[in-house]
Amino acid sequence: MKLLFDEMLRNTASWMRIFGVDSAYFHPSSDNELIELAKNDNRILITRDKELANRCKKHGVKSLHINEVNIKKQLKFIVQRLNIKLNFPGATRCPECNAKLLVVQKQLVKGLVPPDIFKERKKFWICQKCNKAYWKGSHWKSILKMHSYLVSGME
Ligand SMILES: [Zn+2]
Repeated sequence: MKLLFDEMLRNTASWMRIFGVDSAYFHPSSDNELIELAKNDNRILITRDKELANRCKKHGVKSLHINEVNIKKQLKFIVQRLNIKLNFPGATRCPECNAKLLVVQKQLVKGLVPPDIFKERKKFWICQKCNKAYWKGSHWKSILKMHSYLVSGME
């Protein structure tokens, strides 16, 4: 399943990428451009704009309208409504650019990460597109927490 997020949902898209969902984010010059992109790339358009969601229907593009402002609730809503199976951490994507992350040998991130991190950590990932390096840093706990919230049946 491939998603496309409107410009109000950039952080939401980043979170979905972390959980392994192909989530494009696009800053369009017009709504039409956004709809075109969703159509051509076979993506479900996620938007906070109800009118835009309705226009998608007319163009035969799948969309999901979100009322929720809170990111946590937005994610839960998307996962439930679209019945998404999260693939985490196995298929984590780069929160910056949506490309897949690769587990790499430690030597490859030398110079890409702070020296103390390089010394302390064993496991690293690199984005195959933007070359950004990742490790289990201070955000890891909140990511795990968000993940268990999303896969649990409870609100
Ligand atoms: Zn990247």
